[in-house]
Amino acid sequence: MDFAAERTRMVEQLVRSRYVQDSRVRDAFLAVPREAFVRPEDADDAYADLPLPIGRGQTISAPSMIAIMLEEARLAPGDHVLEIGTGSGYHAALVAHIVGPENVVSIERIPRLAEWGRSNLARTGYAGVTVVVGDGSLGYPEKAPYDCILATAGAPEIPDPWRHQLSSRGRIVAPIGLRSGQVLIVATRKADGNLEIREGTPCAFVPLVGARAWPD
Ligand code: SAM
Repeated sequence: MDFAAERTRMVEQLVRSRYVQDSRVRDAFLAVPREAFVRPEDADDAYADLPLPIGRGQTISAPSMIAIMLEEARLAPGDHVLEIGTGSGYHAALVAHIVGPENVVSIERIPRLAEWGRSNLARTGYAGVTVVVGDGSLGYPEKAPYDCILATAGAPEIPDPWRHQLSSRGRIVAPIGLRSGQVLIVATRKADGNLEIREGTPCAFVPLVGARAWPD
């Protein structure tokens, strides 16, 4: 399979359907090889607009869903980003392409996935991303504050630690709602410190499991 051609075709489709509008997001999708972040047996589906299994009951999200999140995040080079839920590392690689790998921290609760995500990132040129094992419902205070906190697992509400770890004017993009389905929310810190919350696209992410989220 000609993965480069498939990648271009996927990006053209994401642009045509207006999931991708920001040229930084487009360039990131063009640069990051999704086939390197899926299981070998799923490589032929790497550029289908589908979530794919990555083991341990988890998934790599569909490209259109990731595009929606990246557009909402409005990232710029140099932004300091915390991603909750490393999984395959694909979303972290796209973020790293925009803001710079050294500006990305990604936290994963399942050690084997963290290890796999870290190796996928290293193989594709994003070794500078910091991948840590831990409970992302508590954020990652060691590297706070963050200009953006992006969650790729669904939480019942915005965990307080995320609010405290946001920079002034920072934003949280996260699926919030039920275990079975959520709405993507965009929460932006205002000058008075409060969060302005906007509800966006309905979505269905795997649950965020942790002390400030769903029980295991
Ligand atoms: N961003 C990933 C990618 O590009 O492949 C997709 C990840 S998958 C939809 C959600 C991930 O969140 C899973 O790998 C899951 O183990 C992880 N997760 C769930 N609860 C977590 C928590 N409290 N802290 C960190 N990671 C968590």
